[in-house]
Amino acid sequence: MSRPARITIDLDALRHNHRVLRRLHGGRLLAVLKADAYGHGAEACARALAEADGFAVAFGDEAMALRAAGVRAPLLVLEGVFSVAELHAAVRESWSIVVHHEAQLTMIEGCALPSGGLDVWLKLDSGMHRCGFGPDAFRAAHARLMATGKVSSITLMSHFARADESDSAFTAQQISRFDSAAAGLPGPRSLANSAGVLSWPAARRDWARCGIALYGAGAEPQAGLRPVMRVCSEVIAIREIAAGEPLGYGGRFVAARPTRVGLVAFGYADGYPRSAPDGTPVAVDGHRVPLAGRVSMDMLTVDLTALPSAREGSEVELWGRDVPVGDVAARAGTIAYELLCNAKRAPKRHVGW
Ligand SMILES: *Cc1c(COP(=O)(O)O)cnc(C)c1O
Repeated sequence: MSRPARITIDLDALRHNHRVLRRLHGGRLLAVLKADAYGHGAEACARALAEADGFAVAFGDEAMALRAAGVRAPLLVLEGVFSVAELHAAVRESWSIVVHHEAQLTMIEGCALPSGGLDVWLKLDSGMHRCGFGPDAFRAAHARLMATGKVSSITLMSHFARADESDSAFTAQQISRFDSAAAGLPGPRSLANSAGVLSWPAARRDWARCGIALYGAGAEPQAGLRPVMRVCSEVIAIREIAAGEPLGYGGRFVAARPTRVGLVAFGYADGYPRSAPDGTPVAVDGHRVPLAGRVSMDMLTVDLTALPSAREGSEVELWGRDVPVGDVAARAGTIAYELLCNAKRAPKRHVGW
């Protein structure tokens, strides 16, 4: 028998979430599959979402891998291209590309491309100030792209910085800046990420771009979304430690009373956050027990004193159904996105084909 750490990806739940979000948004929806589909397996997710309007990835190599796997649906490259060679690949393999800064624009202007070969998503910086053109440069970039004759269509897009804060005046301001910058320009529009679709009806346009909610791991369980990833292992050993004894690296946890400790085959190299404090919930046989002691590279320890029925071989869920990934992330001072993306070591099994 091999190590019991394993990750189950529920493709039924993925399809369910996709339907919910598409219905909620109304327009078309790009399923965001960057970073190996937030750790869920991009190829399997693309196959499971055969009905999707299209997919988005971060960069060319991710797009290339999906095309090589036989994915034919529209594909948007969110960071755009890094070289002329990638521009040619975009035309050849028909990826749509985001253009978000001057160097990408001059690259398109300066290289020899077939006329009307490129599908561009032009990005406005509406206030996040991470990337994208400011309002004046945005309109100028639009005119320059049209003048090249190399572009078949331009979708106008922007990205939210604070859409997960439901009453943020900042998001309202981003929407109105987008509308003024885009006024009078032709072409489809795209604003909303997951939080935009869930909390900002005013952000709904032609295309939504959803990642985290597709995986059922938004800030709160909303709209009946279901978790797609379930990360499990087993209790591999149990011991008693006496009151006053420390447990694990640095002796962070000290037993306040005689304590029954369960050792679990899962650690930070498997993607469990090392920053998780004592008390972070872990589900053993479906019951929540507290993490106790620092997370090690390949193992972690839980306090089983309140769960006498637990034994060696008991199932442990690190996150998924009984413990939402967002709860673990919040305890560890991070976000669900990071935990999902880091679940790279334990073997993954896709179910619900
Ligand atoms: C990653 C990304 C998204 C998806 O964001 P979620 O919050 O996961 O829905 C949308 N748009 C852009 C530009 C992105 O980079």
